Amino acid sequence: MRRNRGWGARWRGIIFGGMRNLCLVALFYGLFSLTSSSAQTSARVETSVRAETFGEWAVRLSPSRYPEPAQYPTVKFVPKLELQEMVCGGADCDIAGTYLGGDIVYVSDDPGMPEGKREAVIVHEIVHYLQKLQGQTNRCRREYEANYVEWSYRQIHGELVGDFQFDWEFYRCTPLDVLSERSFLR
Ligand SMILES: [Zn+2]
Repeated sequence: MRRNRGWGARWRGIIFGGMRNLCLVALFYGLFSLTSSSAQTSARVETSVRAETFGEWAVRLSPSRYPEPAQYPTVKFVPKLELQEMVCGGADCDIAGTYLGGDIVYVSDDPGMPEGKREAVIVHEIVHYLQKLQGQTNRCRREYEANYVEWSYRQIHGELVGDFQFDWEFYRCTPLDVLSERSFLR
């Protein structure tokens, strides 16, 4: 991935503009990416979802400006219990989606989830897919970026979501973790 001063400036602007708030979103990809990707699941393919549409938003809104991939992942909707099994070892964690590698993103089929929120979660997880393709290894940056894109998507689509929020404690990250790469040290 190409990094330059403009890229760093964008991130600094985003981080220092939004770091004071709490996060409402619980997505665990980075924290739990080491959990088994072979978890049994009865996921169903939701053919009515066009991953390309959400993927295009992920590409458009990512500050990293990832290139358009050759293809987007399949979106599979699964019960929250299965997500918890996949990501949290079956614990009752607050999770709405996950990406565990490969070409599938999993999103909760919870009927109580507002549709706008569900769409934003799909976009969030596709950002992780793009990050994987580009070899982004900084876990904190991955989550920061995905949360930022999710927030941007909801805002653009008319939701009143307030300022950007990132739960540093939840993700066990600090702003330095997000910024600490050689590209910022010049
Ligand atoms: Zn995430």
